[in-house]
Amino acid sequence: MILHLDLDSFFASAERTRDIALIGRPLIVGGRGDPFIFDRRAAKQKRLITMNSGAFVPSLFHAKYDASSYFFEKEQIRGIVTTASYEARRCGVKTAMSICEALGLCLEALLLPPDHLLYHTLSHQMMQILADEIPIVEQYSIDELFGDVTGWIAEA
Ligand SMILES: [Mg+2]
Repeated sequence: MILHLDLDSFFASAERTRDIALIGRPLIVGGRGDPFIFDRRAAKQKRLITMNSGAFVPSLFHAKYDASSYFFEKEQIRGIVTTASYEARRCGVKTAMSICEALGLCLEALLLPPDHLLYHTLSHQMMQILADEIPIVEQYSIDELFGDVTGWIAEA
C-alpha cells in the first residue's frame, strides 16, 4: 500500500507556526519573480540549502523580503498567489491568481512574501518524523510525499 500525503495550504500553515496571531485570519502567501536577479549585492546574500530533495523543492534562498515593499513596483501591485489559507479561499482566492485580483476578492487578507527557508526547514522536519514511522518515504515536493507501508504493522 502506498500513501500519498499532500499538506493543504502549507505555506500559510507554516507562517502560523511562528505567529499564532495569524490563525483564523485570511492569509495570502504570494511570490514574484526574483526581484534581485541582476543585483550582485543581493546575490551574495543567497543561501543554498540541500537538506531536502524532490522535484519541486527549492534549494536557493534569499534573506526574508521586506513585506512592505515586496509586492509593489512603480506603484503597482505585482505577484501571484502561491498559497491561500482556507479563510481566503472562501472569498474566492485561488493559487496562481494575481495578487491584485486576490486582494479585490478579499480586502481583509493579510499578504505575506514567501519565506522558503522556513518552509524548507519545516518540510525537512516533517520528512524526518515520517521517515521514523514509515518504512520507505519519498519526498515529491516541499509539501508532498509518498510512503510505502506495504506489510507495515505498528508496534504495540
Ligand atoms: Mg499541498
